[in-house]
Amino acid sequence: MSAEVVRRLFAERFGGPAEVVVRAPGRVNLIGEHTDYNGGFVFPAAIDRTISVAARRTVGRSCLISDALGESDAFDAATVAPGTVAGWTRYAAGMAWALRGDGTLPDIEAVVASDLPMGSGLSSSAAIEMAFGVVWNVLGGLGLDNKTLAQRAHRCETQFVGLNCGIMDMMASALCREGCAMFLDTRSLEVSYAPLPEGTAIVLCDTKTPRELAGSAYNDRRATCESAAAKLGVPSLRELPLERLLAARETLTDQEFRRAFHVVTEDLRSLQFAEALRRGQTWRIGTLMRGSHDSLRLDYEVTSPALDAMAEAAWNAPGCIGARMTGAGFGGACVALVEQSRVAEFAEGARTAYELAMGAVPDIWACQAVDGARVEPS
Ligand code: ADP
Ligand code: MG
Repeated sequence: MSAEVVRRLFAERFGGPAEVVVRAPGRVNLIGEHTDYNGGFVFPAAIDRTISVAARRTVGRSCLISDALGESDAFDAATVAPGTVAGWTRYAAGMAWALRGDGTLPDIEAVVASDLPMGSGLSSSAAIEMAFGVVWNVLGGLGLDNKTLAQRAHRCETQFVGLNCGIMDMMASALCREGCAMFLDTRSLEVSYAPLPEGTAIVLCDTKTPRELAGSAYNDRRATCESAAAKLGVPSLRELPLERLLAARETLTDQEFRRAFHVVTEDLRSLQFAEALRRGQTWRIGTLMRGSHDSLRLDYEVTSPALDAMAEAAWNAPGCIGARMTGAGFGGACVALVEQSRVAEFAEGARTAYELAMGAVPDIWACQAVDGARVEPS
C-alpha cells in the first residue's frame, strides 16, 4: 500500500500530518513448512503486498483505525495487558506490551492501510505486528534493530494474541531483501540471502478459502511434534537425524511418526532447495516443492481439497517451475515459481484447471520480492 494513500487517510481522519509512515510486507514461504516451531529451516521471501501505518504521538489513549477493519478498541500503551483487548487491536496493543521493557512508549493515533490479503497464509498478522513495532521503535526512540523487533513480534503473537507459532513470519517481514529469498535457521536465527534465478517470477495462487480449524489444528500439530521429540530424547525435531527416526518407528504412535517424518524430511528438502537455487537447477526446485506439498498433504495433513487442486493446477500449467501450498495450510494460498516470460499463460492455465476442479475462481498474481519493514522516506 502506498505511503501517499495512508498519509492522506491519516490527515482526513486525524486532521493533521502523521509523524511517521512505515511499511511492512507480507511473505511467501518457498519451502520449509511447519518447521519453524521445530527449530528447522525455512526459506521465505517478502512480497510487494504490504501493510502501511501512518502514526503520531498523542496524549490520552491509543486510537487506531484500519481501512479494512475499522476502529480498534482504545488502549493505554503503557499498561495494556493480555486478555483486555479483542479483534485486530490485539496485534497493535500486543506490540506495545512486548516492547514496554525496551523504553517508554507514547500513546499514538494511527491509520492502517493494506493491500495484503488477511488469513490467506501470507502473514498479514506478522506484517501488522512489524509495522507497529517500527512505529513504536521510532516514536518511542527505542533504537532497536529489525531482528529484535521480530523477536518482540513473536512474543506478541505467542503470548498476547495467543497463537503458539514459530518465528518465521516475523523474521521474514523484518529482514527479507529485494529480489531475494531468505534462508533462515530458526534455531540460531542466522539468515542468508539467495537471489531468485534470473527470469523467475513468484506467483501467488490464492484459493480464497478460509482456514477453518487452523488455530486448534496448528496447536495440535505442534504438541504432536513436541511429544515425538520428547519420546526420542531430542530438544526439537531439528536435532533428529532421519536414520534415527526410521530406527525408532516402533517407539512412536503412527501419527507422531508421520508428523515427525514430514518435519525431518522437510528440513532436508529445504537444504537441498537452497543448494538447487545456488546452482540454478530448476528441475530440482520443482521436485522439492512438489515433495513438500505431498508431505504436507499425506503425512502432516494440513492441506485441503482446494489447496491440493490449486497445486495440481499449477504443476500442470505452462511455465511452472514448482508449486506448493504456502503458510500454515488448511486453506489459503499456493506459491508457484514460474518462468517470467510465461506468467500470463501460467495464470490462465492454472485458473482454468482450478475452476474446472473446484467450481470457484482463484486469485492469481505475480509478485516481487521486496525489502523488510522500514520507515518510508518523508
Ligand atoms: P495471516 O497472518 O495468514 O494473514 P492471521 O489469522 O494470522 O492470518 O492474521 C490475520 C489477522 O491480522 C486479521 O484477522 C486481523 O486481526 C489482523 N490484520 C491483518 N491485516 C489487517 C489490517 N489491514 N487491518 C487490521 N488488522 C489486520
Ligand atoms: Mg498469521
